[in-house]
Amino acid sequence: MSKFKNVGIVGLGLIGGSLALEIKKRGIAVCVTGFSKRLSTLKKAKEQGLIDEYLVNFEDGLKDLDFLVIATPINVIKNYFVQIKRCKPALFVIDVASVKERVVKDADAILGWNSNFVSCHPIAGSEKSGIDAVKERLFENKFVIVTPSEHTREENLLKVKEFWRLLGSIPVIMSPSEHDRLLALTSHLPHLVVYSLISLVEESGEKRERLSNCIGTGFLDTTRIGKSSPELWTEIFMANKKNLFFWISKFEQNLSEIKEMLGKNSCEKLTEKLKILKQIREELDEKGRDI
Ligand code: NAP
Repeated sequence: MSKFKNVGIVGLGLIGGSLALEIKKRGIAVCVTGFSKRLSTLKKAKEQGLIDEYLVNFEDGLKDLDFLVIATPINVIKNYFVQIKRCKPALFVIDVASVKERVVKDADAILGWNSNFVSCHPIAGSEKSGIDAVKERLFENKFVIVTPSEHTREENLLKVKEFWRLLGSIPVIMSPSEHDRLLALTSHLPHLVVYSLISLVEESGEKRERLSNCIGTGFLDTTRIGKSSPELWTEIFMANKKNLFFWISKFEQNLSEIKEMLGKNSCEKLTEKLKILKQIREELDEKGRDI
């Protein structure tokens, strides 16, 4: 039996489109209604069977929904809260944004403490974006960080956890601030470092063709995430800059320590450090396999 009658998804890109696909495939809702910015995206989503129907007027569409997923860029989520508050304040709503403190604060301020909003972040995705990047089983065996505010009701938390489990995901509860602090280290800093690394290709002054001859899979694998959406990542960096500043300083300290070891020819010290780091990295693979 379907869990929901009519699920709305606003934003039908990589995350929203992949969610629509799974909700339909797994029969989680009787009807999936799509909303997006461009009509071309809505038409494509319908043609590809990701959604049952689409509406260009968001507020008109709200009245028939019993669940809404906001999968838009972070900066426009607030506008949707305003419209939900105006037209259907008791609607059960989640978002999937990569930064949580700001979204939860906006939700509390706009939707109010009594709302049925729960903030989530699936630790799933890729460097691709838009409806053409939609991927089957994107959320299967992936963690989803659920970040309730102090006002989130237990029944809504249970409902959200069940929703993600139906998609094959593993929900984990965290405060919005813990989420933003940890994600700054595990996702936001790596993207920033990769962008900085790629900028050296430009700044090196070396001939691009000669440099390309020397680029192997190591550089390509390490910098894959540098192909991600510049708009999305600008939003994420800006929304989480407090935590990013902290980790950037730590990263600079770390680089300086390694530079100092090189300068002092501290071979043994460097090997010791690299041995420890190799072990830590291998343990991360082990943890991944446990899922
Ligand atoms: P995406 O592929 O670029 O898709 C974003 C979608 O939002 C597009 O389909 C776009 O519609 C739509 N959109 C843009 N402005 C809109 C507006 N004002 N109203 C309605 N729809 C609008 O981005 P994404 O990667 O799916 O990211 C979506 C959200 O998920 C973000 O908040 C992001 O932080 C979060 N997230 C991303 C990842 C990841 O790996 N990418 C992982 C976890 C969470 P049109 O096509 O119609 O222009």
